[in-house]
Amino acid sequence: MTNNNTDPKSRRAFIKTAALGVAGTAFLTGTAAFPYYNRGAQKKIGYALVGLGYYSTDLLAPALQETETAYLAGIVTGTPSKEKVWAEKYGIPKKNIYNYENFDEIASNKDIDIVYIVLPNSMHREFSIRAADAGKHVLCEKPMAMNAQECREMIDACNRNNVLLSIGYRLHYDPYNMEAMRLGQEQVFGKVVHISCGAAFRNSSKDHWKLQKKMGGGSLMDMGVYPLQAARYVTGEEPISVTAQGYSMRDPFHEINEAVYFQLNFPGGTIANLSTGFHASFNFLLAAAERGRFELQPYSGYGGIKGSSSNGEMQFPEINQQAAHMDDFAFSVRDGKEVRVPGEEGLKDMIVVDAAYQAIAQDCSVTI
Ligand code: NAD
Repeated sequence: MTNNNTDPKSRRAFIKTAALGVAGTAFLTGTAAFPYYNRGAQKKIGYALVGLGYYSTDLLAPALQETETAYLAGIVTGTPSKEKVWAEKYGIPKKNIYNYENFDEIASNKDIDIVYIVLPNSMHREFSIRAADAGKHVLCEKPMAMNAQECREMIDACNRNNVLLSIGYRLHYDPYNMEAMRLGQEQVFGKVVHISCGAAFRNSSKDHWKLQKKMGGGSLMDMGVYPLQAARYVTGEEPISVTAQGYSMRDPFHEINEAVYFQLNFPGGTIANLSTGFHASFNFLLAAAERGRFELQPYSGYGGIKGSSSNGEMQFPEINQQAAHMDDFAFSVRDGKEVRVPGEEGLKDMIVVDAAYQAIAQDCSVTI
């Protein structure tokens, strides 16, 4: 089984079909908005969440109560006190609870099909490869890893073990962002000439791994991959050069870039002006094309996304992005459906992130 999805033609065709599907089911909510969710009762796919911090606790475990094809089968945690709490709350049997040391024994657990890596970024590579070597399919949170080289190693491990790999870019399931992909890639208002996109929040942490470089911290790694993704999926192209500026204004943000402003040039001529940070709260996507424009604001939240274009207000159903992604990946595992957000998506981002860090360090434009 391979998980490549790099053919731009098939991807564009899929975006079109998916966006039409969403528009055509405008009054449905949750996973019911996606027609392929109702394929009849078959084996439910078991997920194990690795790392039970904020995202697993507040978003993924609740989302797994809404999935139709997948369920929360197991957990992997380094905190023994969480085992009992999660076991009781979600009815997880003791045999499906692992820690970071005995994690590899998951290989013999038939309840668990997919291992979802929700650890600090510096741990994504190790645990994705261990999961693949245990014969489990892998869903890994964004950013995929510390750099492009680590991403390649993860992709190789999954291919070697004949397992699928997906990256937690939930916005590929959000109808508004899917519409932005369609409007941009199909050039509905002509070629997109300019993209302005920012995702940032005022971070008041004092002591968190996201403030530590060696853990994969920093605003570019955390929120910065969202504007980068947006520029890539609106154009449907890969950038050819990047300039970037990094800023750190406050303690304790000096070890990492508190804010990053970066600019991408695309082969078709699009210029993207992107921003991210822990310094201020903003969230928007604006695309200006030859004969019109489209914008989303906010654009990358778990919900509440609003959008308009030169054709008027956008109106799409609110869906549970995490449930949609986990169900869809479960379909890929169970039924062989093409992986919508494969490892290559994470790799392509990290190639640009690597170049952006180089541009910051050398104060120059970097050709990709
Ligand atoms: P978090 O700090 O809340 O949770 C991290 C978990 O990893 C904790 O349970 C912690 O105990 C565990 N851990 C294991 N070893 C650790 C170590 N050495 N140092 C620190 N923690 C350790 O983080 P989070 O916000 O849940 O983020 C986890 C991952 O999910 C990150 O990759 C992040 O980028 C991603 N994320 C994605 C989204 C999204 O919308 N897709 C949102 C939030 C986070």
